[in-house]
Amino acid sequence: MANYYQKELETMPRQELEEMQLQKLKQQVRHVYQNVPYYRAKMEEKGVSPDDIQSLSDIAKLPFLTKNDLREAYPYGLLGAPLSQCVRIQSTSGTTGKRVVAFYTQHDIDLWEDCCARALVAAGCTSEDVVQVCYGYGLFTGGAGMHGGAHRVGALTLPMSSGNTERQLQFMQDLSSTMICCTPSYAEYLIESMKEQGITPQDTTLKAGIFGAEPWTEEMRHEIEESLHINAYDIYGLTEISGPGVAFECQAKSGMHICEDHFLVEVIDPDTGEVKPKGEPGEIVFTCLDKEAFPLLRYRTRDIAVIKYEPCSCGRTHVRMSKPMGRSDDMLIIRGVNVFPSQIEAVLLTEGYCANYQIVVDRVNHTDTLDVYVELPPERFSDTIKNLSALENALASAIRTMLGIGAKVHLVAPKTIARSEGKAVRVIDKRKLH
Ligand code: ADP
Ligand code: ZN
Repeated sequence: MANYYQKELETMPRQELEEMQLQKLKQQVRHVYQNVPYYRAKMEEKGVSPDDIQSLSDIAKLPFLTKNDLREAYPYGLLGAPLSQCVRIQSTSGTTGKRVVAFYTQHDIDLWEDCCARALVAAGCTSEDVVQVCYGYGLFTGGAGMHGGAHRVGALTLPMSSGNTERQLQFMQDLSSTMICCTPSYAEYLIESMKEQGITPQDTTLKAGIFGAEPWTEEMRHEIEESLHINAYDIYGLTEISGPGVAFECQAKSGMHICEDHFLVEVIDPDTGEVKPKGEPGEIVFTCLDKEAFPLLRYRTRDIAVIKYEPCSCGRTHVRMSKPMGRSDDMLIIRGVNVFPSQIEAVLLTEGYCANYQIVVDRVNHTDTLDVYVELPPERFSDTIKNLSALENALASAIRTMLGIGAKVHLVAPKTIARSEGKAVRVIDKRKLH
């Protein structure tokens, strides 16, 4: 049976939800106009005032915010509340190389932690659970968000942070963790370490895991679920909007419900900025409806995804977003072809390889080169070594079929690609370094 943390809000009839969104939006635009001179100037430049917002679709009249604005306004330019009312700062992990700082009032922390609690409860968490949080603590939002969410549910919270794998595995067994929260790549690392140490799923009491903060595939979900004998759920978020929990999977595991009572979602064409017709893929844009300290309006995430509007079997009425298919700024252009690292990952996983890989792009004699380093799974290592080049060719041809461009594949010994305790480093683009 479906479990909710805030049933009334999570299952609110659409019409009521949209009325609430409109009321919050009007209030929020006024709040920002009055308190954030940076955004007010942008509104004035576009000739739009708070009175122009009379329906939800009027949001399209408002200017966008981008990561560039965040950099320009760094650190205080987008503050919507006096610093004396702020209680926390968090910062992005810098996937795209530029740090962003976000501010929170206690109200903002509360609503963020509520979203994380919704995600935990949707994954089956109750006050009986022991939640092992192995996202990094500190400036990164992963640890703080899931920690706060687990407290709200009343679960016993194990604030492990990332790293120290041996201690993670020992506490997981000694303290009977039932749920785990970390990046999917760290989950894979834990699984590898368990195998090495001869720890089986029966040695743990884990029942579910919530994995996010970076892209992962359905194939990885199956691998994690089978190796740990758990249910694995996806969670999405970004520091600029609050952190993890902006969207999360329910037991249907078919898209992540966006917490629409707090975050209004739009899908736009990343090239023109036009709003896309319902159901088409595009760049996800969020408007914070009730945040005080960092009230971003129409923030362009660069994440490309599709929104599902159909009702969900869990009873939640909030729309669902697909896994991001890539970031419009992570997109590699190799020999003129748009390549998302997730496409290469999908090929590797369908061909039976693990997700430990690294993509290296370079430019030699004015031509782009694409090298994919892939670890052989331990069980395939010894008996296939003599067929290495045949395997490499087969993989290269599968990648060519997917991308339309050639790649050089290098199969390497298990555990030779550096592991990450947070987000994995999947792509090295040496062209930027020249
Ligand atoms: P950044 O990585 O930009 O420095 P964050 O640490 O806040 O900042 O990361 C937010 C980004 O992480 C999102 O915009 C998205 O690209 C990625 N992300 C977060 N959760 C997921 C997820 N479940 N699946 C895929 N990508 C995700
Ligand atoms: Zn659902």
